[in-house]
Amino acid sequence: MFVDLHMHSCLSPCADDDMTPANICGMAYLKGLQAIAVTDHNTARNLPFVKEAADHYGLILLPGMEITTREEVHLLGYFREVETAVEVGEIFTEHLPKMKNRPDYFGNQYVMNTDDEIVAVEDRLLIGSTDLDLAECTRIIREHGGAAVPAHINRGHGLLINLGLFPEEPCFPVVEVRPELPVNEKLIAGKRRLWSSDAHHLGDLLEAVNDMPTPRFSLGGLFEAVAGLDRMPERA
Ligand SMILES: [Zn+2]
Ligand SMILES: [Zn+2]
Repeated sequence: MFVDLHMHSCLSPCADDDMTPANICGMAYLKGLQAIAVTDHNTARNLPFVKEAADHYGLILLPGMEITTREEVHLLGYFREVETAVEVGEIFTEHLPKMKNRPDYFGNQYVMNTDDEIVAVEDRLLIGSTDLDLAECTRIIREHGGAAVPAHINRGHGLLINLGLFPEEPCFPVVEVRPELPVNEKLIAGKRRLWSSDAHHLGDLLEAVNDMPTPRFSLGGLFEAVAGLDRMPERA
């Protein structure tokens, strides 16, 4: 399955305003992707519209978000249903500092429908750190049936950069690695590694280059793979 499982929509202040649900899915379709995840910072409010656009283009949408833990570690949360992701996103948004966004400084935070119309403006600055630590964030994701995947572990705000080592608990069977940066192979031995674009601009979405093995060609199969639930052999 050709995937790109980490990118930001116009709801993330750091992403371009033209990263609308319709544009993202149209671009993913043009690039030949088969499954995407839109992972905004500490929210999933745009996902109902992303799902509508993904359905239009025949793309599989893996509902997700990128949470900032108290240690400033970025953690991806993936879910089977959009509704659950939206609900969990609201929990994490509530745990952000009560700070208003300054669009002129940080960028706009738009919820956009599939006609590229602004249907809501998120007031709360979404890119701060929640007051929940890595274990608490992981517990909330898993209690809602989700998969917790440390994001870009070998780059800034990554688990290995900020913490140096994986904690004993919780265990992370799947991690996201930046392919262009070095990583301590010993520390990730036995783990499945994902890689994605982390696109903030439309042109940065992956082409059909990341062919991810999944137990079945479906949302359920993709979820099992990112959660590490399947028993597929690791690829070299
Ligand atoms: Zn990140
Ligand atoms: Zn990101």
